Amino acid sequence: MQAAAYIVIDGSSDLEFDYAIPDDMKESIAVGSRVEVKLRNRPATGTVLDIKEIDELELSFKLKPIQRLLSAKPVLTAPLLKLAHWVSDYYLSPLETVIRSMIPQAARDGEGGEKIRKVVRLIKTPSEEDLKKLKRRARKQADALDYLMTQKAEPLMALSELVNAMSISRPSIKALEERGWVQIEDQVVHRDPYAGEEFLPSPPLTLNPEQQVALDAVLVAKKNPQRKPILLSGVTGSGKTEVYLQAIQHCIDQGKGAIVLVPEISLTPQTAERFKRRFAAIQDQVAILHSHLSAGERLDEWRKVLARKARIVIGARSAVFAPVDNLGLIIVDEEHENSYKQESPPRYHARDLAVVRSHIEDCPVVLGSATPSLESWNNALLGKYDVVKMKLRVDDRSLPLIRVLDMRMEARRGGGGGQAILSLKLRQAIEARLEKDEQIILFLNRRGFSRSLLCPECGKVVECRHCSLPMTFHRKEERLTCHVCGFARIVPKRCPDCKARAISLVGFGTEKVEEVLRKVFTTARIARVDTDTMKRKNQLKDTLSAFKARKTDILIGTQMIAKGLHFPNVTLVGILNADIGLHVPDFRAGERTFQLLTQVAGRAGRGEQSGEVVVQTFTPHHPSIAYARHHDFEGYAEQELEFRKQFNFPPYPHMAMLTVRSTHMARAEFSLKTLHLRLTKALPADNPDQIIISDPVPSPLVKSHDQFRFQITLRANKARKMTSLIRGVMKKMSFPSDVIATVDVDPYSLG
Ligand code: ADP
Ligand code: ZN
Repeated sequence: MQAAAYIVIDGSSDLEFDYAIPDDMKESIAVGSRVEVKLRNRPATGTVLDIKEIDELELSFKLKPIQRLLSAKPVLTAPLLKLAHWVSDYYLSPLETVIRSMIPQAARDGEGGEKIRKVVRLIKTPSEEDLKKLKRRARKQADALDYLMTQKAEPLMALSELVNAMSISRPSIKALEERGWVQIEDQVVHRDPYAGEEFLPSPPLTLNPEQQVALDAVLVAKKNPQRKPILLSGVTGSGKTEVYLQAIQHCIDQGKGAIVLVPEISLTPQTAERFKRRFAAIQDQVAILHSHLSAGERLDEWRKVLARKARIVIGARSAVFAPVDNLGLIIVDEEHENSYKQESPPRYHARDLAVVRSHIEDCPVVLGSATPSLESWNNALLGKYDVVKMKLRVDDRSLPLIRVLDMRMEARRGGGGGQAILSLKLRQAIEARLEKDEQIILFLNRRGFSRSLLCPECGKVVECRHCSLPMTFHRKEERLTCHVCGFARIVPKRCPDCKARAISLVGFGTEKVEEVLRKVFTTARIARVDTDTMKRKNQLKDTLSAFKARKTDILIGTQMIAKGLHFPNVTLVGILNADIGLHVPDFRAGERTFQLLTQVAGRAGRGEQSGEVVVQTFTPHHPSIAYARHHDFEGYAEQELEFRKQFNFPPYPHMAMLTVRSTHMARAEFSLKTLHLRLTKALPADNPDQIIISDPVPSPLVKSHDQFRFQITLRANKARKMTSLIRGVMKKMSFPSDVIATVDVDPYSLG
């Protein structure tokens, strides 16, 4: 028998082979080890997926040996390896790609990568007599020994620090080492992004009845092997985070670990601080993983988790892969957030993976939101998830009053040629708040690159007659196209509904708003937050701190300021153009708008003063706006699910999107047409799984990075049936070298 390891080769997309394990490696190698092997006589690296005994007689060739162990310590835990297989299978992504996104690059390279510093350790304690003697010959050396003895925890100091503190030379320290007083050692420095910060402990709060019910639900689920995922549907400011914190405390008390996923955008210093403070006593057991860390910091935080030194992980999307051992709880905050979907391979959804991982790890999972995704809500309606509702704000604070302003009236009044930025009402509201020295947030939803045709008279947006989705204007062809079914029409000169001639393309941005505001409110202090202005590191943090410290009166921003921020002095939130998000060619546009309005409105009235929200819109009766106005999530969900059912959109069927792109337009188009033909041919005549294949159409973003893009969408009730059809066809297809085909299962961006 021959000991062999089944290895997936890095960068190969899907090459997996058996290699022989040399005798001297047998003891140390494990599933999850990193190794160097030879592939076609070239060195390559890979990850061990399995270790087994192979009968040599059954082999027609001799196994090549593993060359070297890069890291014997597994970089993946057994449950994570299972999860990797699941991701690879469900999202049609090569296992290697999945594993690559699970492990930081530096950890894949081997065991090095640490930051090392020289430290001086006192190894023999000098007596008074010794010191006196030394002082006569070398005063500085004696002082240095003295100083080392006064160190608090242990007689140890960084070499450079000692040199600075005592203004002693390095050779003198060397001399101390030669005389046997000290030893100069290498020390691994943990690159802690929060080093030097002090976290004041914040004790647990006494839960209100709703919070207690929520916490109990989690604790009961922990004990129940038949548990379901818990959907915590709680209004903004209902105290969900406090429930998470106390549930995690229970985990830690039982010696288990916890993962908390938060959207990248709300992983602000404030969020991190909240967790660090609650667990101040075990602060180094809290690891924070997000994309703003340096590669070194990320590696060290990740290793801290792998080494079981950190038991609590707070992180964005990819933290769902954190190698927490003995996991006791997974929390997904703001579970409806689109940023949980990864838009490059593997195109996984972290919330869905949290649910899968909780099955694998046999632990509870909590999905929390004020505006649950319709996917999760539907799962709750179907009884697949348990729902816990929190309907009240903490301390009986009221939800803000929301006023909806009809901008069609404004347009008629001639306020800015149909594109009024600031209605008279909002302008007056801002003035009133400025007078009282209260703060204002103005929000502009700028999502979407393409523009729609909007009638300022009746508020109608030109929609596809087959999909009831807004159509997109394509300048080149001067046509409106539906990006779901491909239906196209000429651009109408008049509004198809009310026949007004004023119909026009809509859209304005934050920059323009700032300009207008500065003209109108000449003395107000104004700041703007968007991706254009927040390029410098810490700029967001600084701008927000200044606003919190009331050095700014008005904050204008995009999505970046919609979430999680807590400014007690903000009493007015203005939403400038609630419609923009509705006019993108995506069946989730309405849902996103509802979520965004609710989140933004949630920023108002978080202090003593009650809050007010002013929503400017051309479509005041659109359900997304009408229901948000009444803080009625369930009402919204009911009617939106009805719409999805009627037009056969997720969450009812699963969707998959095939995109083909190339710098060569005709080749991209031709490849996609071929793919389409093969897919329809591969579909059995009776189509037992009712898989729907759309026509091939240009992508909404038809040209991007000099590449032309075309797409097909598939829908089916069972995701696996659809993906196996796609897998079968893709396997047999070969595309020209300049054509790239991608598959996105459960896509969130239809562009
Ligand atoms: P959510 O996450 O649901 O939006 P938070 O957890 O941020 O709500 O809570 C909102 C505010 O209420 C926070 O300032 C929090 O400290 C406070 N809070 C939460 N729970 C309690 C409680 N039981 N007693 C007093 N204050 C609380
Ligand atoms: Zn259509």
